[in-house]
Amino acid sequence: MFTRKKRSGIITILLCILFMLSLILPAAGVFAETSGNREPLVVGVPKDRCPIFYTDPETKEIVGIGIDLMKVVSDKAGYEPEFRIIEEDTLIEALDNDEYDVVMPLGSALKSSSGAESVVSENLFQTPFTLVTVGKKDLPPLKQLRIGMLSSLHGGAKTVEKLYPGIQIEFYDTMGDCVKALRKGDVDALLHNSYVWSYILQKPSYSDLTVQPSSMFSMDFRVGTRDTENGRATIENLNKGIASLEETQRQAIILDYTSRKLYRYDVFEYLSKYGAISLLTLLLFVTIVVMLIQKARADRATHEENVRQLIDYDPLTGAYSLTGFRKRATELLQENPDIPYLIGYTNFRNFKFINDSYGMSAGDEALIFFVQKNKEIMSDTDIICRIEADHFVVLKRVSDYEERKREEEIIFEPLRDYFVSRGKQTRIQVCAGVYVLTPEDYLRADIDHMIDFARIAEQQARDSKKDGYAFYNPGQWDAAEQTAEICGHLPVALKNGEIRIWYQPQVDYETKKINGAEALCRWKNPDQGWISPGVFIPILEESGRIYELDRFVWETVCKDLKRWNEMGKLRSVSINVSRGDITEDRNVPEYIKGLTEKYGIDKDQLRVEITETAFADNPEILIDATMKFREYGFQVEMDDFGSGFSSLHMLKDVPVDRIKLDLNFLVGDKNKDKGRIIIRNVISMVRGLGMKLIAEGVEYETQAEFLLKEGCAEMQGYYFYKPMPVEDFEMLI
Ligand code: C2E
Ligand code: MG
Ligand code: MG
Repeated sequence: MFTRKKRSGIITILLCILFMLSLILPAAGVFAETSGNREPLVVGVPKDRCPIFYTDPETKEIVGIGIDLMKVVSDKAGYEPEFRIIEEDTLIEALDNDEYDVVMPLGSALKSSSGAESVVSENLFQTPFTLVTVGKKDLPPLKQLRIGMLSSLHGGAKTVEKLYPGIQIEFYDTMGDCVKALRKGDVDALLHNSYVWSYILQKPSYSDLTVQPSSMFSMDFRVGTRDTENGRATIENLNKGIASLEETQRQAIILDYTSRKLYRYDVFEYLSKYGAISLLTLLLFVTIVVMLIQKARADRATHEENVRQLIDYDPLTGAYSLTGFRKRATELLQENPDIPYLIGYTNFRNFKFINDSYGMSAGDEALIFFVQKNKEIMSDTDIICRIEADHFVVLKRVSDYEERKREEEIIFEPLRDYFVSRGKQTRIQVCAGVYVLTPEDYLRADIDHMIDFARIAEQQARDSKKDGYAFYNPGQWDAAEQTAEICGHLPVALKNGEIRIWYQPQVDYETKKINGAEALCRWKNPDQGWISPGVFIPILEESGRIYELDRFVWETVCKDLKRWNEMGKLRSVSINVSRGDITEDRNVPEYIKGLTEKYGIDKDQLRVEITETAFADNPEILIDATMKFREYGFQVEMDDFGSGFSSLHMLKDVPVDRIKLDLNFLVGDKNKDKGRIIIRNVISMVRGLGMKLIAEGVEYETQAEFLLKEGCAEMQGYYFYKPMPVEDFEMLI
């Protein structure tokens, strides 16, 4: 019917009309909201009655079941409600305030506080009221009760009084006061809106309050104002709104507020309610923090350890690096001044050839093998270091013959045959240089210096063109080797009876009688024959092993004395006590006293010899020990008097019983006449000091005669007897 051109023209015109209408109609108010016509309505409401009326803590708006219901009602009645918190204490006072168009909630029409009549609306909703008591209680009927209520519920109270004549109602300003009165017993129960109770009773401190469901009753919830023409008109309008309020809408509003958790705990309430949980949470938190800190520390320690590992250890072999070796070696020397140490410098002579022929990794494996083998027989106090490439350094105890044999079998032979035993032809050639530490090395601990000495010795070994080892200080090595042999064999020697006690008689030259003996030990080694005490005693003293020997000597002497006592041959014996026995923190006087008790020997049968030099070196400790010995009843002798340099001064301070003059020191070979003068004077001096005397090292009759003439009759020496085995001594006595 229409051409295409005409059709599009009509559409354009229709669109234009629609556009014009959309501009004109809103301006004409056709789509305007009805609110524009609404009359404002100021509604006075009480505060703090959650969930009916309360101020939202976030929006600061007044909200609640009552507010929402009133909003719907006002909306339907054509009002724009503005809610204000009632400042007056009670609703009947608020009725007199013209600022509010209406107030709520009222149960029924009441006279205002000034006596004016009021009008109320229809019921907005039925509010249940409940009694609350402390704990569960059987309550008498409501009419006989004394109940507490909030003053602001004055209007409601009036209704209650009408419903239950005889009921007594006390008013309190705050819920806190209400509860206080209830707990004190001023009232039997409290009465309030159930919705409000359901909110208030969430307060942890009210956990003792119990709702009494049996005493539930309901009250109306109405809007009211003074009975004026205006007031009546307003109420009439509101009634229309109430009439059209649907039950579903009402229930929805109530449910909305009663299903929400509106009560907010303050910090203390929170803690009291959720104390355990809070504490646990806190604990958990603290634990997590502590664990995190510990983990961070552990991580750092691991990191530091990794760094230290990198610095202190050789990653290929696990041996110390030079840095690590310096540190640990210094510590070991300080911790073990008694261990005779050596530094060994080892180098594989043909390592370059090995690397070139079998490859670097085969060379690496040989290096690892060498370190492993070393570690197999090293003690905690030995260490090994890889300085670089195939150069190794060890700090280890000087080994005795047996140990060196083991080293050869376990380390060096398998190393030399490392490639041969793997089907190749080349033997590894090993050169080593040895430097034996001197006492000064322990004090200075100049590790680099010692390594240098060992390296020089290693060069000498290398220059000799055969594999083997060389010493930097052979003299020191011999001494150290001897020390190693002696210390290493001491336990075996003691066990196998290689060490025996010999006795050298002591005589009274005047009566020519034997009145005692000195116990001296002798060591007969099956391989080396007799070892002189002049050799092994100083070695054991230096290496801190003398106590092991002396305990054996003292006990053997006690056993011998016991036997002689039983034979009726009462004798006394001098035993030697070394400085090292006493300076170590062990109670030697107590130990020896224990021995005499164990073997039933009189204390004066044992005389304790301590050398003069020991007193000079550690005067305090030795004087203490001397006093203790004497306290226990032992006699103490100062041995080798004349051997030291401080003899005279010693005499003054050291509380010994007897002085043992050593003729060898006092007489010597030269200037015998002067020696005699000295001895004469020493004797008279010692006697003057009230001490006893014995002379040792008496070899000639002339010496004995002279000593006797000067007043020293007690003597010991080759002139009379040499030290002899116990059997010989027994025959003699
Ligand atoms: P000492 O305690 O001064 O013992 C005396 C030493 O002088 C002994 O040497 C003895 O054999 C030697 N002697 C005895 N009479 C004569 C003599 O007329 N002329 C000469 N030239 N020497 C004589 P010995 O037995 O070789 O002991 C050496 C040192 O070893 C002892 O000196 C003592 O200090 C120490 N000693 C020996 N046995 C023990 C022991 O069981 N324990 C400890 N701690 N030290 C011991
Ligand atoms: Mg002695
Ligand atoms: Mg002596």
